[in-house]
Amino acid sequence: MNIHNITHNFVDRFPGDFSGDLHQRQTPGFLFTTVSAAHFENLELIAFNEKLSQEIGLGSLDYDLKFLAAQDLPKNIETYATAYAGHQFGNWAGQLGDGRAIYAGEIKNEKNQTSELQWKGVGATPYSRFADGRAVLRSSVREFLMSEAMYYLGVPTTRALSLVKTGEWVTRDIAYDGNPKQEQGATVLRVAESFLRFGHFELLAARKEVDTLQKLIDFAIENYFEEVDVNSETKNLDFFQAVADRTARMIIEWYRVGFVHGVMNTDNMSILGLTIDYGPYSMLDEYDLEFTPNTTDLPGRRYAYGKQGQIAHWNLLQLANALFPVIKNETALQEILEHYASDFWKLHDEMLCKKFGFDTLLKIDEPFFTTWQQMMQDLKLDHTLFFNTLTDLVLKENLDAKDFNNCFYHQPSVEDVARISDFIKNYQKRLNQNLISRPEIQQLMSQNNPKFILRNYLLYEAIQDLENGDNTKFNALWKALQTPYGNHDDALLAKRPQKYNMVYGCSQLSCSS
Ligand code: AMP
Ligand code: MG
Repeated sequence: MNIHNITHNFVDRFPGDFSGDLHQRQTPGFLFTTVSAAHFENLELIAFNEKLSQEIGLGSLDYDLKFLAAQDLPKNIETYATAYAGHQFGNWAGQLGDGRAIYAGEIKNEKNQTSELQWKGVGATPYSRFADGRAVLRSSVREFLMSEAMYYLGVPTTRALSLVKTGEWVTRDIAYDGNPKQEQGATVLRVAESFLRFGHFELLAARKEVDTLQKLIDFAIENYFEEVDVNSETKNLDFFQAVADRTARMIIEWYRVGFVHGVMNTDNMSILGLTIDYGPYSMLDEYDLEFTPNTTDLPGRRYAYGKQGQIAHWNLLQLANALFPVIKNETALQEILEHYASDFWKLHDEMLCKKFGFDTLLKIDEPFFTTWQQMMQDLKLDHTLFFNTLTDLVLKENLDAKDFNNCFYHQPSVEDVARISDFIKNYQKRLNQNLISRPEIQQLMSQNNPKFILRNYLLYEAIQDLENGDNTKFNALWKALQTPYGNHDDALLAKRPQKYNMVYGCSQLSCSS
């Protein structure tokens, strides 16, 4: 691995605390603190993403196990944790920061693209807020596999280079019910063009460090926003517009594939519009706009599936507040926010069009989508299986409601079947207004509706096996997620079995990681 080519642009550009002091504290005036990882004795490789290593310029001939767990690093690698702030569950939380993420710096590939590298779970930092800075195998597997799954689904996301067991035992009270357990420790080395969050900007605004705020915006524009001209007088406003656009696109993609993030706090919002921080997330099994996988999010369901567009808007409002000191134009900021709201549903409908195989969005589609959504919500049909069934049947002249029986999580009643029949009739009528042929419709649908999704119960089973030393299921999932739109064994495509309905880790999760 070319770890000697790692550079430190961010460290070179911004004020940092080089004391190396790991004590928990506020770090006013600084955007990062240099830190060192904990020492681990018995490393064990679970996964090395060779393709990604090659893509980002780290090379692929061999992997360096110690590097993958931040051990015995060469002198050229400066390790650091950044300070950021955020709104958590709607409330200002002040300084947060990388509590268990440590940066290695950046690496460049042949195309001059840079990627930041970050270990998650290799030790405490000044931002750990009395937690241990460790990650358990369970949560590391979930981050590794899901971030890669999102990449192959075509959703903007951070990625995962490796997964290594640290050999440590870590204590976690997974259900927060006073029953702590020892779990195996692990670390994911994750990769992104940048890990900058809304929270980094919020922190600088809250600390009134306006010069650094402007510097950070310029840094982001220069390095990550080719759509923004850093020499333009309106660069700051253009930057906000670009973040809003990217955020909307990301959330639309979440809706397309049926992803629920679970903790959309502003510190978990990437400024680049990448899906970041895979915690108590879930893919949708049965369709439910009210579904939140995160037990900490009950009973309010702030981060439920159907609220994600609205919450992103709220988070953008917090970012607008943070950028105000350098933009100073409330009307212009508000206009962007208003446009976000109206454009969002248009983008959403365009996305649904593709899922249904419609070539263009027609006026009649809005009521059609509303009726469809209400049916999905009332019948709680499996989101992915529903669209796969529709895609399979689209070449047939007469669709049969019974073909959808597999999408139910309960025994369908006569009324349920009648509802599907009505929907199919409308759908057939709408299809006939398409200009493209049925095979073209089917192709459009196949490209926009994944067949394989990484369901929580599949992860749960793979994690249980891995904790017992068997990596067969983990490897099968890792392979399957690389071709989500292709064909797979039926076993990998099955909806959540009933036995998992109430099992912790299958339909409900906590933030414990
Ligand atoms: P999250 O809700 O997972 O996004 O985490 C919110 C904040 O808590 C972030 O600043 C994390 O870095 C920090 N955090 C979460 N878990 C740990 C941990 N085990 N050790 C240290 N910091 C943590
Ligand atoms: Mg986080």
